[in-house]
Amino acid sequence: MKGLQRILISSCLVIILVVLSTGCGVGSLFAPKPYKETQFLMDTIIDITAYGQGNEAAVKAAFDEFRRINELTNRFDDNSQVTKINQAAGKAKVQVDADVITMLKLARSRSEQLGGALDVTIGALTELWGVGHKGEFVPSQPEIEAARLLVDYRLLEIDDKERTVFLPKAGMSIDLGAVAKSYANRRAIEVLKAKGIKSALVNAGGEVRVIGTRPDGQPWRVGVQDPRDMEGLAAKVALTEWDSLETSGDYQRFFIKDNVRYAHIIDPRTGTQPREVASVTIVSNSDSHADVLSTAMFVLGVEKGQELLKQYPGTEALFITNDGKKVVTPGLAGKIEF
Ligand code: AMP
Ligand code: MG
Repeated sequence: MKGLQRILISSCLVIILVVLSTGCGVGSLFAPKPYKETQFLMDTIIDITAYGQGNEAAVKAAFDEFRRINELTNRFDDNSQVTKINQAAGKAKVQVDADVITMLKLARSRSEQLGGALDVTIGALTELWGVGHKGEFVPSQPEIEAARLLVDYRLLEIDDKERTVFLPKAGMSIDLGAVAKSYANRRAIEVLKAKGIKSALVNAGGEVRVIGTRPDGQPWRVGVQDPRDMEGLAAKVALTEWDSLETSGDYQRFFIKDNVRYAHIIDPRTGTQPREVASVTIVSNSDSHADVLSTAMFVLGVEKGQELLKQYPGTEALFITNDGKKVVTPGLAGKIEF
């Protein structure tokens, strides 16, 4: 029952990114048939659409990859490797799969590049707030301060050779919520490509990646959710120069208490919710390895976010502020429809 409740709650709160496609006309009579499947995994709705021979088996294999990464990283699952690391905090190092090492190293390098706005050791804070789990719960300042002392990516010990991870303070914990979906999506795309798929779209709750173009040669076009109107789109982007688009927002998982919105993204430096922006969408190319930037950009806000984004050439952003302003980086100007 609890599981079902969680699924229902989460599916209502998930970002719905609309894929604007379906070409009509004479060509569509002979158009290849898509295979499309939707599953609820990693606390979100995952849609995979693929064209071409063997598409059904390829999509199923891509879902297996999502499931595998979820099993490694789900901190609500007692058997996941992340839970094992967290349970051993302050006590012992834990041996993990290479995927977990890769995710933690990616997160740590992002933390270094982005002044700690992203911090994969944020577990003590996300657990304290429990957005989406504890109802309308606002912790006290002393509770926030205490949790904040347990958040510091610089303390994370990763031994590449031994493939072990150690959290040196009891109570520290890893939260791969911002990283695992993106990593799993990248892996799922690799699986589809290895199965010979040349045209596909994977949408994992606002984390979108594509292969090639639509079968009619048109680019995949993706709608960006309006953060304050769940039925509306704030923008549309044609994925011509980019093959990935990820959005982080305060409308996916949140509660409102005394007219204040409390969302699931926490600033590790203050222990509270950043409020300048309502959502950030990042477009990039898989080759440029700019994954997992939107969460950090949400924390950094428009000015600092734009400045730090310059470290990732070819990667562009749309910030939608809390008061409805839309700010795009220069490389996206003119290439996005409002
Ligand atoms: P996303 O929706 O991809 O931006 O990921 C948000 C999730 O990442 C949250 O639900 C938390 O599990 C986790 N998280 C929240 N704040 C941070 C942060 N500052 N750094 C790293 N992970 C975070
Ligand atoms: Mg994300």
